[in-house]
Amino acid sequence: MATTTAKSFQNYIGGEWVDAASGETFETKSPATGETLGVFPRSSADDVDKAVDAAKAAYEEWRLVPAPRRGEILFRFGRLLADQKDEVAQLMAREMGKVLPEAAGDVQEAIDMSFYMGGEGRRLFGQTTPSELKDKFNMSVRQPIGVVGVITPWNFPIAIPSWKIAPALVCGNTVVFKPATDTPLLGERFVELLAEAGVPPGVVNIVHGGGGAVGDRLVKHPDVPVITLTGSRETGVEVMRNAADNLKHIHLELGGKNAIIVLDDADLDLAVEGIVWSAFGTSGQRCTAASRVIAQDGIYEDLQARLVKAAEQLRLGPGWEDGVDVGPVINQSALDKIHSYTEIGKGEGAKLLTGGEVASGNGLSDGFFYRPTIFGDVDPGMRVAQEEIFGPTTALIRVRDADEAVRVSNGIEFGLSSSIFTRDVNTAFRAMRDLEAGITYINAGTIGAEVHLPFGGVKGTGNGHREAGQAALDVFTEWKSIYVDYSGKLQKAQIDTAS
Ligand code: NAD
Repeated sequence: MATTTAKSFQNYIGGEWVDAASGETFETKSPATGETLGVFPRSSADDVDKAVDAAKAAYEEWRLVPAPRRGEILFRFGRLLADQKDEVAQLMAREMGKVLPEAAGDVQEAIDMSFYMGGEGRRLFGQTTPSELKDKFNMSVRQPIGVVGVITPWNFPIAIPSWKIAPALVCGNTVVFKPATDTPLLGERFVELLAEAGVPPGVVNIVHGGGGAVGDRLVKHPDVPVITLTGSRETGVEVMRNAADNLKHIHLELGGKNAIIVLDDADLDLAVEGIVWSAFGTSGQRCTAASRVIAQDGIYEDLQARLVKAAEQLRLGPGWEDGVDVGPVINQSALDKIHSYTEIGKGEGAKLLTGGEVASGNGLSDGFFYRPTIFGDVDPGMRVAQEEIFGPTTALIRVRDADEAVRVSNGIEFGLSSSIFTRDVNTAFRAMRDLEAGITYINAGTIGAEVHLPFGGVKGTGNGHREAGQAALDVFTEWKSIYVDYSGKLQKAQIDTAS
C-alpha cells in the first residue's frame, strides 16, 4: 500500500490540538496535480460533542468580554492575515485550485471582514425609543446566543469562514467550525491564526470531517442553537429539516443560477469582459457565477462570436502559475457533474459553441480541468438554463426586449445575483426594481460583493437571512427589549391611556 509523507493535522478543541476519537483520517489533495497536501482527522459525533462542550463552557466568559475587546482580537487576526496574505493565497491555489490573483482576493475579503466586524465591537447598536408612559425608559439591545455551528463549502475557503466566524465572535458567541473536506488545510490555517490573534481556548474550535457525520451532529446537537451553512440547496433543505425539532436559528446561503442581461444598447466590450470574468472566474465555481447570458436579438450574434473568441483564449493551468486564467475544478465528481451537463445540454438541443470537454495534455492530465464551455440557442426551460452546474459552463439565451429578459432572468428557482448591461437609465432602474435577486449589478458582471453590504439571495438561494454588512448581526444575536419604569408606581401599558 502506498504511504504518504504529507503532514498530519488535528482538530482544535478547547485550545488543544487533538486527534479524532476514532483515529481515522482523510487526505486533502491538490485538484491541479493530485499531490497529497495533508492528512486530517475523520471526526465523528464524539469529537463534535467534545467541541460543543468546550464552546459551551467558553461561552460563559466570552459573552462577558466587552465587545470592543472582542473586536480588537479580530483586528489582530486581520493584521496577521494581511501579513501572510501571499502565503495563504499560495496555499489556496494549491488546495482549492483558484488562480493566485483570485486567491489573494479571497484572503483580502477575510481581512476586510475582520476589520469591518472588529469595528462592530464599538457599535453593535441597539435602539432607545420613547415610552407611551411617563417616567419610563425603553431600549432594545443585541445579545449573543451561544454556540454557533459554522459549516462551510470549499469554494471560498478563507472568505466564507470569515463571513460567519467574525460576526459570530464579535457578537459574543463561541464557535464550532466544520470546513469542507476538500479544503481542511485552509480551515486549519484560519483557526491557527485566530488562536495566534488571542482568541481564548474553547471560543473557536475546529472539527474536521464529512457533512454526514460532523455536520449532521452539529445540526442536531441540542447545545448548538445557531447553524450557519453555505452550501448547496439540497444540503440546506436537509439541514433545515434536521434542525426543526430543536427550533434552531438556521442561516442558509445556497445555490444560484445567475444571469447577465445584455441589451442592444450595451457597451459590448465591457459586457464581454464582465461575462468572461463572471462565467469562468474560479472555473465557474462561485455561487454568483454567471451561468446564463440573456442577450437581446440585435446584439446576440455579435456577442456570441466575441464570447466564443474570448473563452478560447483563456489559458488553463495550475492556479499558482503566471498567466493562467482558469484553474482546475475541485474534484473528480465535480468534473463528472460538469461534463454530464454538457451531454444534457446537447441532448436537449442546445448548440455547443465551444469547450464541452475535459482538458488534458500540457501538464493538465493529473488535474481536474474543464474547457470553458458556451452553449448557444438555449431555451430558458432547458436544464442547462435552470440547474446549478457549478463549473465553467454558461448558456446563451436570445430575447426580444428588456421585459422578456427580466422575465427569463427571474424564471428560475434561485435568486442570488443578477446583472444588466444597458446605457438606458430608465431600463436600469426598472431592472433594479424587478430582478428577483438579493444582488443586482448595473454594467458589471454578477460577481464582486463587498463586505459592508448584505449578501444573500431570495427564493431557493436561502431562507431570508443575509450575511456581511449590518444584516449579518441579525443571524448572530437575539434582540432583547428592556423597559425601565422610574415612576415608582405601577403603570399599565395599553390600559393607563390617559396619563
Ligand atoms: P455542499 O452542500 O456539498 O457542502 C457544504 C458544506 O455542508 C460542507 O462542509 C459539507 O460537508 C456540509 N454538509 C453536507 N451535508 C451535510 C449535512 N447533511 N448536514 C450538515 N452539513 C452537511 O456544498 P459544496 O459543494 O461544498 O459547495 C458548493 C455549493 O455551495 C453550491 O451550491 C454553491 O452555490 C453554494 N455556495 C453558496 C454561496 C452563497 O453565499 N449563497 C457561496 C458559496 C457557495
